[in-house]
Amino acid sequence: MLFDTNIGAAVRCTNCGKLIMNEISLFNLSRSGMYEVKCSCGRTVMTVKSSNCKNFRIYIPCIVCEKDHLYMFDSRQALTQKVKILSCPASQMDIAFVGNKTLVEEVAQKHERDLQELINVLEI
Ligand SMILES: [Zn+2]
Ligand SMILES: [Zn+2]
Repeated sequence: MLFDTNIGAAVRCTNCGKLIMNEISLFNLSRSGMYEVKCSCGRTVMTVKSSNCKNFRIYIPCIVCEKDHLYMFDSRQALTQKVKILSCPASQMDIAFVGNKTLVEEVAQKHERDLQELINVLEI
């Protein structure tokens, strides 16, 4: 059986405010151990680390409090569950979406306006 090991991720760049959609291949990740998602402006928007195919960690530089937040994932859950919304523990703002590729895209677009308003408020 063909097993899809690609996880969708959407995160906003802390530098230019662009929404970055990305696919993370857990297969490639488990081989290289680390995967960085970069914005076209050069800023790293997400760092994914894993030493096996079962678990992985995502580090996201927070757009709200400017700290790095760490999120732990179970690969199987991430691939089978719907979208997981990653929020900043300090502000409760949603900073990224991870999960099923198609759903991540939908949710990210829905939140696009909210995030844009946040960015206007923060004047990033
Ligand atoms: Zn950028
Ligand atoms: Zn934060």
